[in-house]
Amino acid sequence: MNLPFFFRALSYFVMFGTMLLLEKSAPYTESVWQKRFRVAFHLGISIANSVLLYLIITWPLFASLSYSQTNLIGIRHIMGLNGWNEVVATLVVFDLWDYWMHLANHRIGFLWRFHKAHHSDMDLDVTTASRFHIGELVISGLAKSVMIIVWGPSLLGLAVFDIMLTAASQFHHCNVNIPFDMQTTMEKIVVTPRMHRCHHALSKGCLDANFSSILSFWDRLFRSYHLATEKLELEKVGLFKPRGPETMKIRAFLMTPFT
Ligand SMILES: [Zn+2]
Repeated sequence: MNLPFFFRALSYFVMFGTMLLLEKSAPYTESVWQKRFRVAFHLGISIANSVLLYLIITWPLFASLSYSQTNLIGIRHIMGLNGWNEVVATLVVFDLWDYWMHLANHRIGFLWRFHKAHHSDMDLDVTTASRFHIGELVISGLAKSVMIIVWGPSLLGLAVFDIMLTAASQFHHCNVNIPFDMQTTMEKIVVTPRMHRCHHALSKGCLDANFSSILSFWDRLFRSYHLATEKLELEKVGLFKPRGPETMKIRAFLMTPFT
């Protein structure tokens, strides 16, 4: 089996199980929908997405990776970055790219049609990290192929970024009751569940804030950071429309971009 795929799958299920256990023993808030149903619904979406992505996106990703490596194309080759320096630089550069991609998902109407399928979740927990419309994943996969040509990462650098991004996403979507003081300290470096819950919240201060995925630094740098100190600000998550049972129905979920 391909090692990067194996470690990515291993990390996904270890984080998924760990967060589920923590959410059960110390939840931040009560779920609107039954947990078992949420796990089945979002895991089903994730498995279907993984198969489709494997069929659609693997080829362009590996074609651009092999092209950039064979011809030594990309900024990192110009900078002469190799070994662990390259892995760390690739992680930071792709995390920055992810910030702008996420911002574009909110700013550009066509992209928002797909991204709102993720935001329509009325709960927030580790399973939300698996709730993405296949259209959004295909578009970001194609954009990533272009980024690979621009930057020229190694396979290891790219694999480390993918694993870290998935683990960070599972962590910052989780519904675990971590003391706010502790999260304030953590938030100086990484995106915390409170910081990302604010991104999904419907309160005034949280709207249009906190787009970072791994490092919280980008939101401070680009002035989109909001520190939610009041629990009230984080109470209501999701969208104003749709709300209710259709947010957890597969047909309605898949049709989100077209409604
Ligand atoms: Zn978003």
